Order: sequence, then structure tokens, then C-alpha cells
Amino acid sequence: MSFVTRLQWFFKTRWLHYSVAIGLMTAVSLLQTIPPKMIGNTIDNIQKSNLTASELSQTALLLVGLALLMYVLVYVWITTLYGNSVLLEKLLRGRFMAHLTRMTPGFFQRNSTGQLMALATNDILAIGNTAGYGVMTLVNTVVGASVVIVTMISLIDYRLMLAALVPLPLLAVVISFLGRKVRARFLAAQDAFGKMNDHALESISGIRVLRSYVQENEDLAAFDRVTSGVMDRNREVSLINALFQPLISLIVGVSYSIGIEYGSYLVFQDEISLGQLISFNIYLGMLIWPMISFGEFINVLQRGNASADRVEKSFLQQPDVIDPGQPKRVDIPASIEMRGLTFTYPTAEHPSLRQISFTLERGGTLGIVGRTGSGKSTLIKQLLRQYPLAEEQLFISGVPVEAIAIDQVRRWVAYVPQEHLLLSKSIRDNIALGREDAADGEIAKAVEMASFAPDIAIMPEGMGTIVGENGVMLSGGQKQRLAIARALLMDAEILAMDDSLSAVDARTESRILQNIRKERAGKTTFITTHRLSAVSHADWILVLDEGRVIEEGTHEQLMHFGGWYRKQWDRQQMEAGLED
Ligand code: ATP
Ligand code: MG
Repeated sequence: MSFVTRLQWFFKTRWLHYSVAIGLMTAVSLLQTIPPKMIGNTIDNIQKSNLTASELSQTALLLVGLALLMYVLVYVWITTLYGNSVLLEKLLRGRFMAHLTRMTPGFFQRNSTGQLMALATNDILAIGNTAGYGVMTLVNTVVGASVVIVTMISLIDYRLMLAALVPLPLLAVVISFLGRKVRARFLAAQDAFGKMNDHALESISGIRVLRSYVQENEDLAAFDRVTSGVMDRNREVSLINALFQPLISLIVGVSYSIGIEYGSYLVFQDEISLGQLISFNIYLGMLIWPMISFGEFINVLQRGNASADRVEKSFLQQPDVIDPGQPKRVDIPASIEMRGLTFTYPTAEHPSLRQISFTLERGGTLGIVGRTGSGKSTLIKQLLRQYPLAEEQLFISGVPVEAIAIDQVRRWVAYVPQEHLLLSKSIRDNIALGREDAADGEIAKAVEMASFAPDIAIMPEGMGTIVGENGVMLSGGQKQRLAIARALLMDAEILAMDDSLSAVDARTESRILQNIRKERAGKTTFITTHRLSAVSHADWILVLDEGRVIEEGTHEQLMHFGGWYRKQWDRQQMEAGLED
């Protein structure tokens, strides 16, 4: 049973809880066999006219006492078992989240957010359900049925028992067939649920764009198609579900009719008493629940297995970039060098960077410019170790980057991405994202350096202002400066700014750059930009085109060279002059 092997770790740690629950369930099943026997005996006594009043009240009291005892036992095993199932869900969600945080962008390109959310919610719920409700139904089937059958044989008559249970094998065959169907249809339903998540996410986050293009009705119609898909898949699951119970009732009906016919015959033959026949019929009734349980068990197990398949598939995916077995120690990034670096995105056909070479000593500033789509962001991202890289192409302090622990490299780099990622928290928490322990003074300094202080001063709650989902409350330029302040607070060895000044005016830009030059003296900086004034002070400038370096040098050298850089510079200066 693959479900058990997969969750071995869990069953192992919780074996005591499971044992207690199973033990109590067994005890309840055993206790349940007593009342029918007592009722049968009483009836036989009535028939033989030797039932005393005190005996009757004693029996009645015992029945009530038994019912109370079972009430307590059932309560305990239910809470124990369901405690296990919610605990399993919690543990799995934690593991899943930890897994996601280890994954690189390639993983998230392959797996959509909606599908991942479906795994974290619905699928893990189904797995937890199997570990709780599923185990209960299994134990009920095995224990309940064997206790009843043994009691039937020992207290009544084995021939009657055999005759009444003739239809059971048929039940097993049909249920296992239905179980396979459930699994396939449940997989389809979970998949459809994931797609619906994706659509909902996209519609909500893109609501402003949808509205401005008056696409609400189209989107609603599209969403309607998706939800109809989910409904249809779930209906297909419930169609199969609905077959389990009636099937069991049918089989039980057949059993009853065999039991009563053959049982009456045995009573007439004086092989069993009337009381025994009645007890037998109560026992037969008690078999209904284990049988229903069996159907439920197969049903829940198949769903749990289907979901476990899905979750496991995700767990099996490894990050694209893996840590070296024995990382080399590098204390500080004394230099950063690319040697003929060529890089292709995992999903792309052509390289986005070709034969890039440069060396940047610690404390230097590298400017990266070029047309849109030329590979500037791609080059900067190589420092973050998000994508797999061919060996011996990127060196830090002369050591190939693949030989250095990934965490170590990432800690060196403070990255200001081109598209801003803000959390729906206060401005302060957003700035202190990488350093929650930062003192107010440090934060204020970072804010000052990023020229963000005047903006905060006019915010309704200053630093405590909540920026809304992905910073909806802030202007483009404010988001950029918040992101810069966040990176500056890290005071990291390497600052990587990807087009981070595009939404601020020229004067603010030069003020921020000046602050950075002053405060970060001795540390390394990467800047990509479309506005060349942002890199004119850089120690070295690369001009990219279609992933290749087409010009490189200092500002003066490039101006002298008179290529793309020169033309672009002249044009931008002229435009700036016109604006003034
Ligand atoms: P911009 O100035 O517009 O920011 P850029 O110079 O930063 O452009 P990049 O983002 O580095 O350009 O993109 C370089 C090339 O790589 C483009 O052709 C782009 O389509 C491709 N590319 C970027 N990101 C990915 C990705 N995740 N998967 C596949 N291809 C990508
Ligand atoms: Mg870019």
C-alpha cells in the first residue's frame, strides 16, 4: 500500500496515538456485540416465561451503562485520530513551504502559483483525511467485521453466517473497480481546482488592467468556463461516490433476505432459537457499518493516494542550482570575474548572454547598458545563483562560483530587482526585510541615502504606513526608492541595482548615486540603466546587444570610441537640455 510507505515517517512518530485509537476502536467493537446477545437472551427468557422483573431492570441498566462507556471511548479515539490528521496536514504544509523556499525560478516557471496553492490546500487536506478518517474506516472494516463474524459463529451458527455473507466477495470486486475510477477522476478534479486558482489569482491581481481595457465581462465568462470545468470534474467524482452506498445497501439487502429465509428454516428445525435468530439479524445489521466503512476506505484511500502522487511529484523536483558538496571558503569577494560566460534560460532556445568577460575588483562599479532585451537583467541575475551556470565561467575572488556555498554568495549580494516586490506590510517592515534586527537609526540612514525620507514624511502614518498588496499605495518612484533603501540597509559587499532609478527624476538620481558612492566606498556595485548618466562615474561600462558585449570601457573611452554609447549619450544630453 503505497500510501503507508510514503507516510511511514509520520506513522512511525505517531504510532502510540494510532495504537491507542485502534485499541479503543477494537474495544468499542467488542462491547457492541454485548447488547444484541443480551436482547436475544431476554427474548428467549420471555418466550420460556422465566423473565423476572429484577433481571429485566438489570439488563436495562447494563445497556445504558454500556452505551455511556462506549460514548466516552468513541470520543477519545475520534479526537486522537483526528488530532493525527490535522497534525499531518500542518507538518506537510510546513515541509511544502520549506521546499518552495528552496526552489529556484525555473521551478516556478514550470509550476503555476494556482497549482501550488491547490497542493498546499486541497491535496494536503485529502492526505490528512486519509491518515485520519481513512484509518478509522479501515479499522472499522477489519475489526468491526471480524468481531461480528466471530460472534456470529460462536454464539449463533456458522452455516447461517456463511450463507448470509455469500454476496460479500462481489462487493469487494465492485468496490475496488469503483476505487480506481475515483482516483482518476479525483486527480482530474484537483487539477481543475488548481487551474481555477490560477485564474482567480490572475483576475484579482490584474483587476486594474482588466478594468482599464473593459475586459471584465470577457474575464467573467472565461472564469465561468473554468469553474464549470471544476464543477464538471467534481460532479464526475460524486457520481462515482454516490455508487458506493446504494451498492452496499443492495448487498446488505440480499444478505438479510438470505439470513431470514435460512434462519427461519433453522429455527423450525430447532437448530437455533428464535432469540438467536433475532440476535443474528442485529449482528447482520452491525455488519452494515463495516461494509460502508470498507467502501469509504477505498474511496478515501484512492483520493489520498492521488493527492499524495501530486504532492510527491512536486517534492521530487530539485532546485536547479545545488550547493557544492564541499564548498570552498571565500571570506570576502575581492573580485568578480566572468570568463566567456554564455547563458541560456532553461525555457529558452537561444542564449541571452554570449561570451561575456570582465573583471571587477572589490570597490569598483560596473555599469551595464544596452537596448531593451539586450541581457542587462540577465547578467545581473547571474550573481544571485538562481539559474544553473556552466562551470568555470563566473569567479569570485578567483574561485568558481559553483564551488562556493549558494547562501554565502546570496548573502554578499543586495539586489534591487527591476520589478519591485513589496509585501503588504508597513514601510518599515518592507525596508527591514533582510535585517529585521536593524535599529531605527540604521533604517533612517538607508532611507536618507535612498532619498526616500521626504516621501515618508508626508505618508499618513510615516514608517508605519501599510503599503498594500505589492505596494499599490506607492508611486513607481516611491517603490523604487523603498527597494533601494531595503538593499542599502543590508550594507552588503555587492549592490546590484537593476534599472532601479528609471522612475525618479534626474536630480534625485544623481543625489542617490552620490550617496551610494560616498557611503559604499570600498564595496562593489553593479548598475544597469537606460539613462547613461547613472553609469558615467562607473569604473567600467559594458554595452550589451543581443547578449553580447559590443562596446566596453570607461565613460571617457566610450565617448571617444563614438559608438552606440556616444550616440545615446549625446541624444540623452540633448533631451535633458530641452527639458531644462
Ligand atoms: P530591459 O532593458 O527591458 O530590462 P534587459 O536588457 O534587462 O531588458 P533581459 O531581461 O536580460 O533584458 O532579457 C534578455 C533576453 O532574455 C530577452 O530576450 C528576454 O526575452 C530573455 N529572457 C528574460 N528572462 C527570461 C526568462 N525567465 N526565461 C526565458 N527568457 C528570458
Ligand atoms: Mg532588465
